Order: sequence, then C-alpha cells, then structure tokens
Amino acid sequence: MRLVIATHNKGKIIEIKKILGKLNLELLGMDEVGIADEIIEDGKTFADNALKKAEYVARKIKGWSVADDSGISVDALDGAPGVYSARWAGQDVSDQEIPIRLLDRLSKVPLDRRQATFISSVALVSPEGRHWLFEGKVEGSITTELKGEARPHMPYDVIFIPVGYQRTFAEMSHQEKNSLSHRGAAFLKLKVFLDKEFPS
Ligand code: IMP
Repeated sequence: MRLVIATHNKGKIIEIKKILGKLNLELLGMDEVGIADEIIEDGKTFADNALKKAEYVARKIKGWSVADDSGISVDALDGAPGVYSARWAGQDVSDQEIPIRLLDRLSKVPLDRRQATFISSVALVSPEGRHWLFEGKVEGSITTELKGEARPHMPYDVIFIPVGYQRTFAEMSHQEKNSLSHRGAAFLKLKVFLDKEFPS
C-alpha cells in the first residue's frame, strides 16, 4: 500500500519521512507519483488547507494521501502570518528574506512580548474519501537576530526558539527539532493511527 504526501516542499518530505520512520506503507512525495499540479491553498484554517491538499491527491491517485498545512502565528501580530506563512512577505520574497522581514516588523517589540506558536494540521484521506485530522503545536518566541543554518523551505527556523530552550530550531539537529516541533507532534499522532490501521 502507498501513502502519498501531498506536497512539493522537499524540506517537508524529508522531515515527514524521518518522523514517520518505519511504516507498513510505502511513503512517496507527489512528484514521485507524477503529480505536478499546484493545489491552491485558499482555506481559512490550517485544517481546511491540509484537507484540500490530501483530498485532491487521494482522488487523483485513487489511494491514501496525507497532507500537512503549517505555519507560525506571532502574538504581537495578532496571529499573523498564520495560514499565510509561506507567502506572507510577498510572492517573490525569498526564503532567506522572509525571517529578516519578520524581524523588521517586530523591531520595536520587547523581548517579553515576542511569543509565537508553530501549528501543524495533518489530514489523512482514504481512497474512499474518508478523512482524519491530527494537530500539533509548539510554543516559543521570536529571536532578535538570525541564528543557525536554515533548512530548505523552513524559513522561520532561524528565528524561533521553543519554550524551555536557548537555541533556535535551525541550531538543532533534525532529530531534536522533530522531537519538539508542531509537525513532529501531529505526525506522531498520525503514526499511532497508521500503525494500528496497517499493522506489520
Ligand atoms: P504550507 O506548505 O502551506 O504548509 O506552508 C507552510 C509554511 O510555513 C512554509 O513554507 C514555511 O514558510 C512555514 N513553516 C511551516 N513549518 C515550518 C517549520 O518547521 N520551520 C520553518 N518554517 C515553517
């Protein structure tokens, strides 16, 4: 049985494969099954967008699909960028530039008002169109400068420090980030479900 991850984001595929580890399912990216389509993310919530992506791919391949929709909500910006995290700074702003723009926006915000939350909503859709949702969150704060080496397509890692830590996600190994992250938490819930549904 195959499970297709409904994303073209290679950074996400790497993280998701590492988090899910050994499964009794073959895990493939959308590009690996020849789906080049861009799915428009016009939902109002992370769950709406995740469901839209997984439903699209499940219908197309007549099989199981999973999608994550994620982003960061900054308290001092009333929850922005939120569902617009990928394109909040403008369509053609590079991943390197995105955290710099956010630091600029927060330049007058004091250290004790820089709280932020990463959120991941994961949707699993069956070949018959049934769906399940799993959510993960991690609370933290936004730094005042860039710290660490950014991973591909993970622009906010260099400015986010989870609560209880002194290092940004970008200063952590994949394993450490996944053990704390929003995506790690949501996909671990999915893994528990899949291990029950598809036992080896
Ligand atoms: P999505 O593909 O619509 O879910 O876009 C999520 C966007 O949120 C990504 O392009 C990143 O900008 C941001 N994002 C989500 N998770 C992370 C993370 O773990 N680190 C850094 N940025 C993230």
